[in-house]
Amino acid sequence: MPELPEVETIRRGLEDRILGKKVRTVEINTDKMVKEPSPKRFKEEVVGKKITQVIRRGKYLILVLSSGKSIVIHLRMTGQLIYGRKDAKSRVAFLLSQDKYLNLKDTRHLGEIRLVENWKKVPSIARIGIEPLENSFTFKVFGKMLNKKKAKIKPLLMNQEFLAGVGNIYAQEALFKARIHPEKQANKLKLEQAKSLFSEIKRVLNRAIDYKGSSLVSYVDADGRGGSFHTRLQVYGRGGEPCVKCKSPLKFIKLGGRGTTFCPKCQK
Ligand SMILES: [Zn+2]
Repeated sequence: MPELPEVETIRRGLEDRILGKKVRTVEINTDKMVKEPSPKRFKEEVVGKKITQVIRRGKYLILVLSSGKSIVIHLRMTGQLIYGRKDAKSRVAFLLSQDKYLNLKDTRHLGEIRLVENWKKVPSIARIGIEPLENSFTFKVFGKMLNKKKAKIKPLLMNQEFLAGVGNIYAQEALFKARIHPEKQANKLKLEQAKSLFSEIKRVLNRAIDYKGSSLVSYVDADGRGGSFHTRLQVYGRGGEPCVKCKSPLKFIKLGGRGTTFCPKCQK
């Protein structure tokens, strides 16, 4: 599933390409992906409007329209948003000014698209926690957040109501870098561990954005190109392989139903 770095990479690509463009037509080929309003009303209300802002919140992409309404997109597992020529496999295709298309593709069609009055009031968005790359996310704030939680640290980091945009890949990578066991109870982290985790979360997300994300399943950027950070992952998907720091075999466990790889020697 695309996480913060992947969605942010798509957002930046789209911002460069679709900002200020007008939607000329909307073709909806998979009605069930349009969660609200009806596909017919969705088309009527989007056609003729300009895209005035491209925003990311957590793993959501928001296209603000000149009417004040917003198109809210969640790519879930296999969603892709690709700018360029018309794609025959589009679930939803927007024809924009200059004869360019914005294609929403999704092999498993689990993604969601909706048109709303106020994107901040979409319930699943309203509940999203703090953005880890914003200046308001300070160590003081993070320390307080951790102290209130008895949950295991890895599923907690992935909880979108706790922290925005971190998923299975980057939670594992940040914990490895900070040398913290994924099952450690959040409020029992030592001060030094919490500080290290705070900086490693920001660092791994920023580095992944620099490499345009990790293309493990189907993620591509707004031009349809894969990212390259997956070649730099140190624990994700490496169960049984040697730890890059101490060479002992990495361990794979299920934690909260999600595959989790860590180094039992380095991570305490
Ligand atoms: Zn190790």
